[in-house]
Amino acid sequence: MATQFPEPPRVGMVSLGCPKALVDSERILTKLRSDGYGLSQDYAGADVVLVNTCGFLDSAKEESLEAIGEAMAANGRVIVTGCLGQEAEMIRARFPNVLAISGAHQYEAVVGAVHDHAPMPPNAFLNLVPESGLKLTPRHYSYLKISEGCNHRCSFCIIPSIRGDLASRRPDAILREAEKLIEAGTRELLVISQDTSAYGVDIRKEPRAWKGGEVVPHMTDLARELGRLGAWVRLHYVYPYPHVDQVIPLMAEGLVLPYLDIPFQHAAPDVLRRMRRPANEAKVLERLKTWRAICPDIAIRSSFVVGFPGETDADFEYLLDWLDEAQLDRVGAFRFEPVEGAAANALPDAVPEEVKEERYARIMERTAAISAAKLQAKIGRELDVILDAVDDEGGATGRSQADAPEIDGEVHLRDTFGRMPGDIIRVRIEDADEHDLFGVPV
Ligand code: SF4
Repeated sequence: MATQFPEPPRVGMVSLGCPKALVDSERILTKLRSDGYGLSQDYAGADVVLVNTCGFLDSAKEESLEAIGEAMAANGRVIVTGCLGQEAEMIRARFPNVLAISGAHQYEAVVGAVHDHAPMPPNAFLNLVPESGLKLTPRHYSYLKISEGCNHRCSFCIIPSIRGDLASRRPDAILREAEKLIEAGTRELLVISQDTSAYGVDIRKEPRAWKGGEVVPHMTDLARELGRLGAWVRLHYVYPYPHVDQVIPLMAEGLVLPYLDIPFQHAAPDVLRRMRRPANEAKVLERLKTWRAICPDIAIRSSFVVGFPGETDADFEYLLDWLDEAQLDRVGAFRFEPVEGAAANALPDAVPEEVKEERYARIMERTAAISAAKLQAKIGRELDVILDAVDDEGGATGRSQADAPEIDGEVHLRDTFGRMPGDIIRVRIEDADEHDLFGVPV
């Protein structure tokens, strides 16, 4: 007779915030799954609900508090973790019956709280998890976190006070994780951290054995080894330190995607100084030209803040002129929003809301025109596209090498019968609009 095992407790998860928080959620769920816990897709079936919060902007805090409130109302057995967990007293004041609260990447505390409040029955059947862990992203792309924390102190940001100084992961551990992800079906690795170009500065004298040789904990060496694993490798949150120049040849060689996500945030020197931004010096425009000379297809993505305290009309015009010259491929813009605890809140000369709105509309209009012109220039070209979704009528949506998931544009395709998500296919671009491309397989 077959042994009857008791049902393991089930855990529900609400994951808010940035890709880094998503990676935290994946790690927590992977550990719980390997401990034997089941997962629940809804509040009703969960013995306990984890809410992984974001505390970066006040609007994100509010969204996190709403998510906690919803989970409390729907289930009542809630464990809070993530960035907002730093403000445990505030959470307790609003939701006194929350079971436990922990901060960002306190995996052991979260897992311990689940064991305390939804203990495993004795002799429970231990479910096996795939070696690559559990993923919340589709199977064909994965975020790969290479470090935690940040050594900078940008005046609008509280991440270092929440996550601490830079702590790089061992390069061999990152590469092993990447290999497992690829074995499990990942075709695209999205390298993330708070500051990818700073990877390894804290462990620079600790090379590790890798595939019969050594790998040095440095962005260029790590990017090269990742590229050798055969998946697309996309670098996010790169600051333009001089050594970034060394990664561009890897892009030209095809080892790393010709894509850089560089959060410039502004261009006017006075604003950058007040923002205390790292590595943003006057030579950036020249370096963009050099990078494009080495790797003509390189796509540069960035984000900018308008309405930072003290930003004058002249600063804003400087930014628009800079953007005209920089010709970035993808731009996200944000209106400055004070974050509780950030040094920038004490700066004088707050920009009125209506001025922020007007500047936001102008930067969006300007950058959309640049993006549209760049996409128009791709009509008639052949590009590699990774498929994210396919339908029954031959339609598919994918992304070119210039498009990261969630934040950039898409390529809409026809006549892709028999293809699967994760397939990388060659397509001819037939049309373009402001953000997306349209094409057909060749
Ligand atoms: S580089 Fe600046 S904005 Fe980015 S995490 Fe560090 S302090 Fe925050």
